[in-house]
Amino acid sequence: MIPSILPTYNRAPLSFVSGEGAWLTEADGRRFLDFGAGIAVNALGHAHPALVAALTEQAGKLWHVSNLYQIPQQQALADRLVAESFADTVFFTNSGTESCELAVKMARKYWHDAGQPERTDIITFEGSFHGRSSAGIAAAGSEKMTKGFGPLLPGFVHLPWGDHDALRAAAAQETVGAILIEPVQGEGGIRPLPDQYLKGLRDLCDEHGLLLILDEVQCGMGRTGRLFAHEWAGVAPDIMMVAKGIGGGFPLGAVLATERAASGMTAGTHGSTYGGNPLGCAVGCAVMEHVADPAFLAEVRRKSALLRQGLEGLVAAHPQVFEGVRGAGLMLGLKCRAPNTDVLQAGYDVQLITVPAADNVIRLLPPLTLTDEDIAEALSRLEAAARQVETRRETA
Ligand SMILES: *Cc1c(COP(=O)(O)O)cnc(C)c1O
Repeated sequence: MIPSILPTYNRAPLSFVSGEGAWLTEADGRRFLDFGAGIAVNALGHAHPALVAALTEQAGKLWHVSNLYQIPQQQALADRLVAESFADTVFFTNSGTESCELAVKMARKYWHDAGQPERTDIITFEGSFHGRSSAGIAAAGSEKMTKGFGPLLPGFVHLPWGDHDALRAAAAQETVGAILIEPVQGEGGIRPLPDQYLKGLRDLCDEHGLLLILDEVQCGMGRTGRLFAHEWAGVAPDIMMVAKGIGGGFPLGAVLATERAASGMTAGTHGSTYGGNPLGCAVGCAVMEHVADPAFLAEVRRKSALLRQGLEGLVAAHPQVFEGVRGAGLMLGLKCRAPNTDVLQAGYDVQLITVPAADNVIRLLPPLTLTDEDIAEALSRLEAAARQVETRRETA
């Protein structure tokens, strides 16, 4: 018999009842150190007082009115995002997937209005993830996500990761209008795009007049130690998808764009009932207040270096379990030699939450607010988990 929840997830037998900072409490009272943060969502940790206050204060006043009216909280958050980024304009969504939908529509509409409606193709890359909608799965293109869901939305050119010649050839096609890429692949196994490669993509887009769309749903909002990951490369996109961290746990997403890229999106061309609602935007403003602060971002970079140094030691001490560390800021991946699911399970056994990814990687995505003590504790629990994996492999 089918479970009453559609069984599309293999869930761990853990149910958390409360959280504080980087810690979660299970129904049985056990405390887990949370290095998953709801898949890079709880950027300020659990039950952050400023977010609780922003949400409850707004909840007592007004939840929802629709986009038929002015929404001051939405205006404030848009103004802040524009002030802190390359963007001239913002549209709010409720998820990364919805942001992907709009990014695709915006690129197509741009070329339609520019008198080159044949430029419908968007170049995407192997290992990418852009959400589970029809456009999102077609954009990523992997068999795992698309099999059985055809016919797929046409208009995506899938390229292997790091094949410069294939990229140059594809970008020169007259049917191509945009390039869509994650500056740091998340689901694909924490694969950061080298700064030089992102710069090269920007140059290639400029050469052919293409729109550069960055998916910063997972790597944005301070995760890499800059407000947005592309800032490390010193280049700007034309369109950027954001979600996850921006709501700190409240469902919120956004598409940021330049005036030029957004020029086709006039009144009536797109909409959302819930997008940019007062509750979500009140929380989003509180999140921005923290993560856009240069001192906060400097702390993310400092903590990243501390964690990374410990992880390098862990990898060196457990070569049968781990192969290496990769990533940026507090978006780090442990490439495993042992099956990553064994490491994940051993983590659960020592009450440490991590998140698996493709390419046999374990993701470490802690709240950006974690303390130095949390880092030390995570390293000691990872050490214990690694020893457990080694013992199990010897006795197996
Ligand atoms: C999670 C994610 C998405 C999809 O976001 P949802 O909020 O789950 O719809 C899209 N792109 C990237 C890079 C993501 O990590």
